[in-house]
Amino acid sequence: MSEENILIVEDEKDIQELVRYNLSKEGYRVTSADSGEEGLKAVESQRPDLVVLDLMLPGVDGLEVCRRMKKDPATANIPIIMLTAKGEESDIVAGLEMGADDYVTKPFNLKVFVTRIRAVLRRSKTEPPKEEEVLRFPDLVIHPGRHEVLVNDQPVSLTFTEFGILKYLASRPGWVFTRCQIVEAVRGDGYSVTERSVDFQVVGLRKKLTEAADRIETVRGVGYRFKETFND
Ligand code: CA
Repeated sequence: MSEENILIVEDEKDIQELVRYNLSKEGYRVTSADSGEEGLKAVESQRPDLVVLDLMLPGVDGLEVCRRMKKDPATANIPIIMLTAKGEESDIVAGLEMGADDYVTKPFNLKVFVTRIRAVLRRSKTEPPKEEEVLRFPDLVIHPGRHEVLVNDQPVSLTFTEFGILKYLASRPGWVFTRCQIVEAVRGDGYSVTERSVDFQVVGLRKKLTEAADRIETVRGVGYRFKETFND
């Protein structure tokens, strides 16, 4: 098995060490950078498999590091997990919209943290389904071509917008999407929906999904996510 290289960009030495110690124990190769500038240099020279990026950094901050990585085609596909302090929802939203893959709020539970890293690495290697590919889950089947949804084999009638939102979230299970990202994705398909109406649409969607309603998870202050496994 090839060792995956994880870069942590964080100025707080104790967090850096804690992360390094625990990820090394899991078999990952870990390198660290103390500032945004150093982080960008390390990304450039090492091409890590994943970056753990603290948002609060001296000098070039985490959001700017994320923006520059996503702008450069050579580094745009490297997954990023943001580290944020509790209550910084607006930063989380900004980071996700800039292309970060996930986030962990400090103080974090190490087990949760390691699980997130594994999940993001796994997801980054899985191609998103093609436009017309049927999405199958034990309790839910989504037929993009037929505009059809089955919950436990029972057909469910959704509006165009509800269908668009469900298809978008379910195309990448486990990923958090902000309202703005959902609007952008759904709008591209010709539906009309605003950021404010996303919440309203989701309420209607959940009601119609009955037993599968819990698949659509609200991520407070951030957006929505399609749950990968049903009972977690
Ligand atoms: Ca920091």
